[in-house]
Amino acid sequence: MPTEQVSRIDPAPPGHSSPDRLLDDLCAALESYLEPRQIAEVRRAQRFGAQAHAGQHRLSGEPYITHPLAVARILADMRMNAECIIAALLHDVLEDTPTAKEQIAEQFGEEIAYLVDGVSKLTQIEFETRREAQAENFRKMLLAMVQDLRVIIIKLADRLHNMRTLGACSPEARRRIARETLEIYAPIANRLGMNAIRTDLQELGFAEFYPLRYRVLAESVRKARGNRREIVSKIEAALQDRLQQEGLPCRVLGREKHIYSIYQKMRTKRLSFSEVFDVYAFRIVVDNVDSCYRSLGVVHNLYKPVPGKFKDYIAIPKANGYQSLHTVLFGPFGVHIEVQIRSEDMEKVAEAGVAAHWLYKLGDSIAASSGAQKRVRDWMSGLLEIQKNAGNSLEFLENVRIDLFPDEVYVFTPRGRIMELPRGATPVDFAYAVHTDIGNTCVAVKIDRRLAPLSTTLQSGETVEIITSPGARPNPVWLNFVVTGKARATIRNYMKNLKRDESVELGRRLLDQALVNACSKSVQDLDAHDVEILLAEFKCRNVEQLYDDIGLGNRLAPLVVRRLLEAQAGKGEPASRTRGIKQVFSRYMPAWLGGSKDALRPLAITGTEGMVVTFAKCCNPIPGDPIQGFVSSGRGVVIHAESCKNVKEFRNQPEKWIDVQWETSIEGEFPVEIRVDALNRRGVLATVAAAIAAMDVNINNVTIDEHDGKYSTIIFNIAVHNRVHLARVMRRIRTIENVAKIYRKRA
Ligand code: MN
Repeated sequence: MPTEQVSRIDPAPPGHSSPDRLLDDLCAALESYLEPRQIAEVRRAQRFGAQAHAGQHRLSGEPYITHPLAVARILADMRMNAECIIAALLHDVLEDTPTAKEQIAEQFGEEIAYLVDGVSKLTQIEFETRREAQAENFRKMLLAMVQDLRVIIIKLADRLHNMRTLGACSPEARRRIARETLEIYAPIANRLGMNAIRTDLQELGFAEFYPLRYRVLAESVRKARGNRREIVSKIEAALQDRLQQEGLPCRVLGREKHIYSIYQKMRTKRLSFSEVFDVYAFRIVVDNVDSCYRSLGVVHNLYKPVPGKFKDYIAIPKANGYQSLHTVLFGPFGVHIEVQIRSEDMEKVAEAGVAAHWLYKLGDSIAASSGAQKRVRDWMSGLLEIQKNAGNSLEFLENVRIDLFPDEVYVFTPRGRIMELPRGATPVDFAYAVHTDIGNTCVAVKIDRRLAPLSTTLQSGETVEIITSPGARPNPVWLNFVVTGKARATIRNYMKNLKRDESVELGRRLLDQALVNACSKSVQDLDAHDVEILLAEFKCRNVEQLYDDIGLGNRLAPLVVRRLLEAQAGKGEPASRTRGIKQVFSRYMPAWLGGSKDALRPLAITGTEGMVVTFAKCCNPIPGDPIQGFVSSGRGVVIHAESCKNVKEFRNQPEKWIDVQWETSIEGEFPVEIRVDALNRRGVLATVAAAIAAMDVNINNVTIDEHDGKYSTIIFNIAVHNRVHLARVMRRIRTIENVAKIYRKRA
């Protein structure tokens, strides 16, 4: 008898079912595994929920309570425990009714209140964008999940029912929800190894988000199915018979691929429909691990294996705990056969993932060897680490999303430990996976004992040895190629702190400059009392925070000094003097900022301030150019050439300008643009470029602007040390034949 399973996209629920009917069905399902006392509690929760949602309806017109009932039913089919079923019945009560969390705790206990709160969105906070709200709610839910996995299991069941009943929503909402399902919820289900719910979410999400593609593929499957039945049952019988002969009791199942997985294979492997669909897939379920390997031998004896296709996910389980042997065979009638071989216990984990923990009393052996629970724990502790390093919820969401696609590679440490990494991972990802410190100080890598670039994509089976150096630092360039959330979040966090060190130092110098200008004192002269005043005035925790604020341009140093002087004059009672300060402040302001320039000491620019001092792209100032600093909120100081036309435009914000000058001993390279008008002769560009390079000047970029047949303008972006250096370069280019004119580009 052919047992080929039909693709399991569930039809919409038939007609409207009354809440009473749904409740009876639910309790009937629960009777198979819960005690009467627990079922009574479930009925009580249903009454509580129905009362809270009284008068509310779903978009389809049904009483609202039908939705929590349906969600509870999905969880009952997964044989989840009583707390989980009760929480499911109450899951929308906090969000959609005036009921408070305390009430639920009082009625049903803290545990259930926690679960319900975990799946509820934040309703008290207003968000600026939907994206932000989505990200913040997602973060809240994931953090709740780390405490109790049932939070996410309820959420997945909730999402599954919402997907099944999308029909009543607006087209826009349907697309949004379908997309979120494909991008976030299905991958989470996959991460947790909950394959049954994952495939349902994917099929429904795909059908909704790509309706045309879904219809075309579903139709192709329907047409192709006819010819298959016979072949499927023949192969199935052959496998079954042979295994039986060898004394291996087993179940053999013909599998039909899900439409979404056909689509994914066609897309990622660039295959045609028939190339994907014509592969016949079978699953062999046997009693124990030993039988798996013996069955593999039998099967390879029956049909020849396709070389290079065998995968042992029993010895090395997938990231979500999935275990199986995979192989591909040359079957009869010239078809390829994909075979998965696993034990009954592995089959349960493969279907239910972490939920299997609640469903079955699995033997310790399977729990230990697949480590499904441990792997999920590892993933969740990784989430906590990402959360710690991520600046805000959007960043968190982005990093988690990267981590959710566990198409993995397996590599080895020099000591033979197996590390699993997402496909596309690089040695830097590997280094961070081993330990944050190793990532932060890695400088080179040996892959299979050969030196390789840090950006190399790792392949399964390679041995990776990271070479570290104590003084080394993460390089921002790594962000261009790392793929793991952990590496990305750690590097970013490091860059942020680095910027903070720089902004603190710049802020200190700016305050020092302002102090000298105002009262010929320096930062060192500030005593403990002065510092206290400053911290109280600006509500800073410590002086670094104040420097940081100044360095980033969020506060202006002269105004900080002004407030300090006023507070000192008021004998250190800053709080009571606010109004007085404001008055004095406006009186003094013009003298302070527009006043006699000569008396002010400019800030020296060394070129090593890093990210908090930047050089304007409009005018590319180089040492020797007269310059002006513009304090830009959150970005520190931007240096412009005095002649820049933007300087004139910003004249109306005098309080934002600061006087700066180049440090006399300045070193380093600064970008500058020069334009060369030249006759259109073959080789002109090469000659000019060679002359520049011969002077040991780096060319960052070249563009050519051909304005008529005769002349072209070649624009070079080059790196020079200062004006003298630039003048030397320009003099040299001027002597080149066919060069008509050379000048520096000005904004
Ligand atoms: Mn819901």
